Amino acid sequence: MADDTARKLRFRPSAGTMAALGLKEIKSDSPPTTAYIMLGEKCVRDCSFCAQAAHSTSGAGRLSRVTWPEADEDALLESLGKATADGSIRRVCIQTVGGRGALDVVCEAVAKLRAVCGPGTAFSVSFSATAGLDDIGRILASGADRVALAIDACNPELHKKIKKADMAASRALIKRAALSFPGRISTHLIAGMGETEEELLRLASSLKEEGVGLGLFAFTPLRGTAMENYPVPEMASYRRVQLAFWMIKKGLLKEGMMSFDGSGRLSYIGISRSEVERLALEGEPFRTSGCEWCNRPYYNERPGTELYNYPGPLSGEEAAMAFAKAVKGLVFAGEEGR
Ligand code: SF4
Repeated sequence: MADDTARKLRFRPSAGTMAALGLKEIKSDSPPTTAYIMLGEKCVRDCSFCAQAAHSTSGAGRLSRVTWPEADEDALLESLGKATADGSIRRVCIQTVGGRGALDVVCEAVAKLRAVCGPGTAFSVSFSATAGLDDIGRILASGADRVALAIDACNPELHKKIKKADMAASRALIKRAALSFPGRISTHLIAGMGETEEELLRLASSLKEEGVGLGLFAFTPLRGTAMENYPVPEMASYRRVQLAFWMIKKGLLKEGMMSFDGSGRLSYIGISRSEVERLALEGEPFRTSGCEWCNRPYYNERPGTELYNYPGPLSGEEAAMAFAKAVKGLVFAGEEGR
């Protein structure tokens, strides 16, 4: 009889993960603290921004800005065991692109990776937001702490156009999943695909109210995708969104404490400027946002350019520059009568 448990899986760690695990020689100033591993290739879905979309010509080993070479399973398991034992890797994130059809492989992969990792290692699985509650339950039971169901496109029209999906259905699933599996459901929002700051931040607030974990990405145009010629997000807008998003995530900023101008740009934050400045100058708001220990180095930007998401602590100068961009034109509590 065939031994099913001995079947090899096709793991594709990100190039940065391979380097952090010692499986590839790449110099990096920011190693990942999460091991990102893609499972499968070529998605059944056709999101316009994604390198793995059905009609993308980006190539099998790409996702976001990053390449994902196939790894030898035994070498991967061994090195992951070591890296989670010495604490250089604190989380494993499995990115699935095979849709619901990949469920069995995903569960098998989680169990296999979990078995070699140190006991404190956290596990996330990024899975299709067309999943059913049962699918999510199975992934969690196989050893994942969190399942991320990506919304990505932040208004219904963009959702339909870019993700070819009904946003109300994705929202309903996430809401039900967050109720069924409290504290174990996350989502990703992508800024800069044509939504307003208001749409993104109101959505982030309502997801926070539902207990959903939040991750923020900056739209990245990728060659071979339908959106390859769409512009990158304007940095000042991204910084504003990042700052408010971080405060929402921390529970400091509620929907009723924000105002927007007629174009949907954030114009007011109901917290004093000095308090926001005190928090922001530590740099936290401008770091990669997602599950704990998720730093996604260079997912959204080229090395040498101003980073949308900093994968590690910011210098005082970087934090001050990011903060100055974020707050330009913003009014804070107590300043209304200026
Ligand atoms: S936030 Fe990071 S670790 Fe969490 S699911 Fe998303 S990419 Fe993975």
